[in-house]
Amino acid sequence: MREILDRIQHNPDSNTVDGKLSWAPAKSLWFTGHFIFWITIGMTQFSLGAFGAYLALSILILCGGHSLGMHRKLIHESFDCPLWLARFGAYLGTLVGLGGPFTMMRAHDLRDWAQRQDRCHAFFSQHSSIPRDWLHQTHLKLTLDNGPDIQFPDKLTKDPFMIFLQRTVWLQQIPIGILLYLWGDWGWVAWGISGRIVISITGHWLIGWFAHNHGPRKFHIPTHGVQGHNVPGPFALLGFITFGECWHNNHHAFPESARMGLRRNEFDPGWWVLRAFEKIGLVWDLVTPGTIPPEKHHAEPLIPTEKMGAAPSAAKIRPAL
Ligand SMILES: [Zn+2]
Ligand SMILES: [Zn+2]
Repeated sequence: MREILDRIQHNPDSNTVDGKLSWAPAKSLWFTGHFIFWITIGMTQFSLGAFGAYLALSILILCGGHSLGMHRKLIHESFDCPLWLARFGAYLGTLVGLGGPFTMMRAHDLRDWAQRQDRCHAFFSQHSSIPRDWLHQTHLKLTLDNGPDIQFPDKLTKDPFMIFLQRTVWLQQIPIGILLYLWGDWGWVAWGISGRIVISITGHWLIGWFAHNHGPRKFHIPTHGVQGHNVPGPFALLGFITFGECWHNNHHAFPESARMGLRRNEFDPGWWVLRAFEKIGLVWDLVTPGTIPPEKHHAEPLIPTEKMGAAPSAAKIRPAL
């Protein structure tokens, strides 16, 4: 279990308000280039096979890579697993197209730290209008005048594989692209690489926008300037599409928890995968709200806990705690 704040080095003058927004060429051109390739080749050479490749790769990469490999394992250390599985998860997470392991940890930790302050720039709080926030997240970068430093852990700085992933981040799509071309055609490449990257980046941004602006909250964190919201979508279906990442109010309340959907209708496929892996011994020491020591709980429940079902089910899974 990793406390994000352990990695943040800041001084009394550090703040997350003063800074300059500017164009981020790599991020902007990456997104735009894939968008153009997808709407030209992807639409003219559409096939069910190409769409199937897009779907299968999206499920594997977003669930196994983004949610489990990068977010729940690399960033939060919310469970333990063999090194090869942690590396494979980071590899899949790199394939999302948002960045390598160092980039993702830095972006996550800076945002997390900023949202804990009284005030933070709209780049971090995502409290701008949808079009402006889209511009922020997909085309611009924020350079803080006096921002904190991120102290990367040894598991990144001393792992040659993680350094290799970071250095070759954009090239990692090429082997998959070649396989897609050999198996199908350029339509498969357009959907399996470019369409997937554009839809993943757009979905990640849009869920992030809703998760900091709209949706029910079961917890409130008095010391944090920005609150997270759960984003159920119709019939709580976003739980499936985001593999559990849409339960962002729960994540703000229990960032160290490997389980994000805490109540019966909060579908959390990422957690289901972890539970299945736990049964066959691939992962262990899963952190849940029930296993986090009470002195580390900084959220106040907004509804009586007995109505949530969260604590009882967590306790059922980890009876010893
Ligand atoms: Zn958040
Ligand atoms: Zn997080």
